[in-house]
Amino acid sequence: DDEDVTPSFSNKNSLLPSRGWDDISVYNAKKKNYAWFQAPDGNWELAKILSVSGNESLIAYSETKVVKVQSDILLPANPEILDGVDDLMQLSYLSEPSVLYNLQFRYDRDMIYSKAGPVLVAINPFKPIPLYGDDYIEAYKRKKMDSPHVYAIADTAIREMIRDEVNQSIVISGESGAGKTETAKIAMQYLAAVRGGSGIEYEILKTNPILEGFGNAKTSRNDNSSRFGKLIEIHFSEIGKISGASIQTFLLEKSRVVQCSEGERSYHSFYQLCAGAPPSLREKLNLKSVHEYKYLQQSNCYTIPGVNDAEQFGIVMEALDIVHVSKEDQENIFAMLAAVLWLGNVTFSVIDNQNHVEPVIDEALQSVANLLGCEAEQLQIALSTRNLTVGSENIVQKLTLAQASDSRDALAKSIYTCLFDWLVEQINKSLSAGKRRAGRSISILDIYGFESFDVNSLEQFCINYANERLQQHFNRHLFKLEQEEYIQDGIDWAKVDFEDNQDCLSLFEKKPLGLLTLLDEESTFPNATDMSFADKLKHHLKSNPCFRGERGKAFTVRHYAGEVTYDTTGFLEKNRDLLHLDSIQLLSSCRSKLPQIFASNMLSQSEKPAAGSLNKSGGADIQKLSVTLKFKGQLFQLVQRLGNTRSHFIRCIKPNNSHSPGIYDQQLVLQQLKCCGVLEVVRISRSGFPTRMTHPKFARRYGFLLLDNVASQDPLSVSVAILNQFNILPEMYQVGYTKLFFRTGQIGKLEDTRNRTL
Ligand code: ADP
Ligand code: MG
Repeated sequence: DDEDVTPSFSNKNSLLPSRGWDDISVYNAKKKNYAWFQAPDGNWELAKILSVSGNESLIAYSETKVVKVQSDILLPANPEILDGVDDLMQLSYLSEPSVLYNLQFRYDRDMIYSKAGPVLVAINPFKPIPLYGDDYIEAYKRKKMDSPHVYAIADTAIREMIRDEVNQSIVISGESGAGKTETAKIAMQYLAAVRGGSGIEYEILKTNPILEGFGNAKTSRNDNSSRFGKLIEIHFSEIGKISGASIQTFLLEKSRVVQCSEGERSYHSFYQLCAGAPPSLREKLNLKSVHEYKYLQQSNCYTIPGVNDAEQFGIVMEALDIVHVSKEDQENIFAMLAAVLWLGNVTFSVIDNQNHVEPVIDEALQSVANLLGCEAEQLQIALSTRNLTVGSENIVQKLTLAQASDSRDALAKSIYTCLFDWLVEQINKSLSAGKRRAGRSISILDIYGFESFDVNSLEQFCINYANERLQQHFNRHLFKLEQEEYIQDGIDWAKVDFEDNQDCLSLFEKKPLGLLTLLDEESTFPNATDMSFADKLKHHLKSNPCFRGERGKAFTVRHYAGEVTYDTTGFLEKNRDLLHLDSIQLLSSCRSKLPQIFASNMLSQSEKPAAGSLNKSGGADIQKLSVTLKFKGQLFQLVQRLGNTRSHFIRCIKPNNSHSPGIYDQQLVLQQLKCCGVLEVVRISRSGFPTRMTHPKFARRYGFLLLDNVASQDPLSVSVAILNQFNILPEMYQVGYTKLFFRTGQIGKLEDTRNRTL
């Protein structure tokens, strides 16, 4: 007797909004059926339904446990045939546990890639897996393989670029350590392998070790964490071969140059240089071991397990050769790295009874002067005094220890970021040589994901703002695609609602009362403080539903991925990002090539020399474009560029925080699926007709269940006969030109019958 084991399911689900959950209660649990049960530890368990009486079900899970539960807390499980399907959209039931289970099922079998409709989900294996290399590339190129893969995405991008003559983009996101940079490299390798030929593709691949050397560092989340965002646009000639590339970088984290937390490291380049420089270079740069430099000492971490910095140095030098950076310029680059390291060792001594200081002339100061190409005395003056123009008078002001240390660190940070920008410029020159305009391009975006830490500062503010913008691009783009697929197959398109995050974006961008404008305005007031900034936000934005003022200097933003509380400490200072005019003048008077270039770049970037303006250390500054304003400009340009392409999305997921293979932390994965909008895509598709099957496949699979003969054996007639026989309600499906489109749960019913019949 089956009747006693048929619980009815409510459409209760904490995550997926009920909108679009239709006939889930029709789920027909038979004796051998399974359901999802959220165990007391919060994890979802596949439970076997033993019996049902009234509202209660007796279930068994985790092999040994048997409990009686309210039936309505159970969620329907998919039929076994759907275990580990390639595309989450094929699942009859798209509940949170089903999605988690399906991804885990695949992950356990080293199938780290899955599709969520149009999105590729990549779960970091944290171990080498045999899915890459020439044989796989060949198989995807020849379409002999179609399981989800970065190669498949790259291949589709190439085909669509050529077929539709539309530029393409591959947008990779995910949190730190999720595998974005590796994924970007895998995509680049595919493009290079199938569309290379001229040799330029080899140069393009070699930009990776360079950018990683100078822009990546060991953090607590990732031993090789990119501290900048990157867009690489790969150009193709009319015949579809790679003809060049250009790279744009975003927001290099500059604070890391002068300070980093316990157990983390500064940029790889410093350790690589100290470990790998040959003796003659060591002597020229007066290089010591990493342990001798204060900037590197503070975090008490010098090596990365499994990484040989000396070897990496060789790889970076070789890569620099390949992108045509001359030996002379390479030496100039290394001299700048050494200068930054030695700057950190510069110390100060008090020279008067007002606590003014002067750098000690020692090996450190002397080395910096030699490396930059100036006199030690010049450097001494630049680091300990400020020239002020008050009215028509020129005043020389001495600095205190705190002011002098700040100006030393600001100089070190500026040299490093200028060096990074200059390097990118050199790479771009090399990659664009001979490039012709006429062709098409594929851009790959590898950019930091949404961040929410215990303490969130201006960096997180910018990163999350960027993610908010990219999320909007994602939503709108996918929504449009979904619509197109329906129209292409000739079926009705009932307008589907989707969550837009325009409100949150407006909170950032609105003029004159948005977060960015208020921050910039406050940054220009000499007397403003972090506190006055926080008060201003609270005053003007208190009625905005995406904003909440907090105690003290903090405020909270309701992002699409969750609430984040920002601490405004240091916001104004970081946003102004000032470098003293004295320091820039010092650089411009140096004999070496790079300091001069850096100085002129800084001057040309400045909006207006802030004549007579005072900052906290009492000096004249160069007023540059504020950090957030510059970033906003870059971001607008980025989104505009992406908007002119057909985008392909890859969402990288970190399955555990211990960087270990084989561990799948449900809660962690779920959190990320929410943050990167995968569940939202699933929801959008759910509210339409998510299960799709071509007519022939459908006819083959269920045709034998037909009780009456069908006059015509063509797949469409067979399909329609099946639908009629099973009384599938007209509102539950649509017949397209090539496919049948079903609402959730419909195939499950057919599958059940099929299994019982077989
Ligand atoms: P992100 O750029 O998202 O911060 P990375 O791409 O640097 O993360 O990946 C972090 C680490 O995870 C890599 O150094 C590597 O050890 C591992 N990893 C990522 N993707 C893969 C992959 N496809 N195969 C093997 N290991 C991977
Ligand atoms: Mg990275």
